[in-house]
Amino acid sequence: MNGCIFCRIAGGQVPANIIARDDDVIAIEDLNPQAPSHTLVLPVAHYATIVDLTRAEPALAARLMTVASQLGSERGGERGFRLVVNTGEYGGQTVDHVHVHVLAGRRMSWPPG
Ligand code: AMP
Ligand code: ZN
Repeated sequence: MNGCIFCRIAGGQVPANIIARDDDVIAIEDLNPQAPSHTLVLPVAHYATIVDLTRAEPALAARLMTVASQLGSERGGERGFRLVVNTGEYGGQTVDHVHVHVLAGRRMSWPPG
């Protein structure tokens, strides 16, 4: 989608620290990390939110969570990690291309802000 920063990263027009990619899914380092390890897992195809993605392509949504869970296990080890999918205005979503945050390397607090 024109003008979408994550589409531009997926298309190679904007540089990013790419950790892993295949035809469907890409994992990048977050530009503004909120934990010692903060990665984002996103579909190559543009879907604005997790709601749109699960409705249109449930298998791709499952794949996104599988990759995120694998990355979290690698980065968080036995101590664990956190997956976050901010959605919409109240969910705190700032980039309207669905992505899973994978946070690891420190103890997370609850409730979230
Ligand atoms: P959210 O607020 O949940 O939509 O998350 C968007 C995330 O994308 C934030 O954590 C940003 O730091 C991150 N972000 C924005 N632009 C870039 C970029 N060009 N490369 C990597 N991460 C980015
Ligand atoms: Zn996009």
